[in-house]
Amino acid sequence: MKKHVLILGAGFGGLELATRLSESYEDVVDVTLLDRDDSFFFGYSKLEVMFGRQSADEVRLPYGDIAKDGVEFRRETVTGIDPATRRVTTDKSSYDPDFLVLALGADYDMAATPGLAEGGHEYYTLAGAERLRDELAAFKGGRVLISVLGQPFKCPPAPFEGAFLMHEHFTREGIRDSVDMTMTFPMQRPVPVTTAVSQLFSGGLAERDIDERPQHLVKSIDPANGEAQLASGETLPFDLFVGIPVHRAPDPLPACGLAPNGWVFVDQTNLRTEHPGVYAIGDVCTGARTVPKAGIFAEDAARVVAEDIAATITGAESPAPYNGWGICYAEFGDGLVSKVEVSFLSASSAEAEPHGIRPEFVAEKAEFGATRRARWFGRT
Ligand SMILES: Cc1cc2nc3c(=O)[nH]c(=O)nc-3n(C[C@H](O)[C@H](O)[C@H](O)COP(=O)(O)OP(=O)(O)OC[C@H]3O[C@@H](n4cnc5c(N)ncnc54)[C@H](O)[C@@H]3O)c2cc1C
Repeated sequence: MKKHVLILGAGFGGLELATRLSESYEDVVDVTLLDRDDSFFFGYSKLEVMFGRQSADEVRLPYGDIAKDGVEFRRETVTGIDPATRRVTTDKSSYDPDFLVLALGADYDMAATPGLAEGGHEYYTLAGAERLRDELAAFKGGRVLISVLGQPFKCPPAPFEGAFLMHEHFTREGIRDSVDMTMTFPMQRPVPVTTAVSQLFSGGLAERDIDERPQHLVKSIDPANGEAQLASGETLPFDLFVGIPVHRAPDPLPACGLAPNGWVFVDQTNLRTEHPGVYAIGDVCTGARTVPKAGIFAEDAARVVAEDIAATITGAESPAPYNGWGICYAEFGDGLVSKVEVSFLSASSAEAEPHGIRPEFVAEKAEFGATRRARWFGRT
């Protein structure tokens, strides 16, 4: 009899896992894939929406298009998880799977930064990207403050991509000379995987005359007075505030005690939690060492989990340990994209190979999305 795998969350990690299980292990597992939403969109699609290159509807990939042997998608919101028994309750049903995979991603804690929801902007949600698109279209000049409001956050390059693309937008609009751009972030340097990678991003900021303030953390903003309050007690003025919101584990994980230190702890070699038959992949998990929150790492973790589940069922050899490997593309604006190959767990410290910032990586990044669209949704 086939074993039942329940995947919570149909994002980067959940979609890849369902696809792998269907492709390679359909003879031993039945998969149920749950998500509270009706469609998926890539994280980087928010940049498309923010700069009006595509509409929100154009970037959505409906789950109704998923047609994979042995996989059933259900639109349900997870309301409870008992990791000891693997019992999951949703707004519509309950489940007792043989294997449970938590792939619920990361949500945002807007209230953690007073003033942000009332008078700031963000582009980490699709709705926020749409609002910022309209704000940017109306913006005629002034002080723009872009701030990373907490760690960890999704996609380490994404705040800097946003800044580079805003610079490009203001330049195209002919108003760049009347815009002062400043970035604050709590890290010691941008994208701190290695010095060489940080240098790509610091260089990008300097070339575009964007003032960089490392180890500066905005705690709250006062939109009425156009002032951001920093943890140091300092204040910074702004006319337009764009924040990368504080992240948190989605409900119901905190209430279920599954994220005692903020995120679900896993053995990073195989993504198993301490509870038998329960795994966690992607943004929702943490481990002894840092692996950034990005789709590419969720995807590679899904591969390991698919192999580990199959090995457990069939008694085959366990897969090689997860090594936190991935290729990251980042937009620098003006038709330029950087490419960095990274591995966070294969050596004693993170290793990265930057391949530069080049026009030809624009097509590679597009191809990256196209292959996933085809693989997960059967779309060309
Ligand atoms: C602006 C921006 C740019 C980015 N660019 C890149 C990039 O270039 N490359 C890259 O690799 N990554 C990028 N990312 C990061 C990437 O989007 C995420 O890291 C990735 O989606 C994480 O995958 P995941 O499967 O862990 O979670 P997600 O893809 O977020 O999926 C989690 C799913 O769980 C569902 N869910 C949550 N709670 C519940 C519940 N209670 N019940 C039911 N369903 C629930 C959600 O609806 C969601 O569909 C970017 C992110 C942003 C914001």
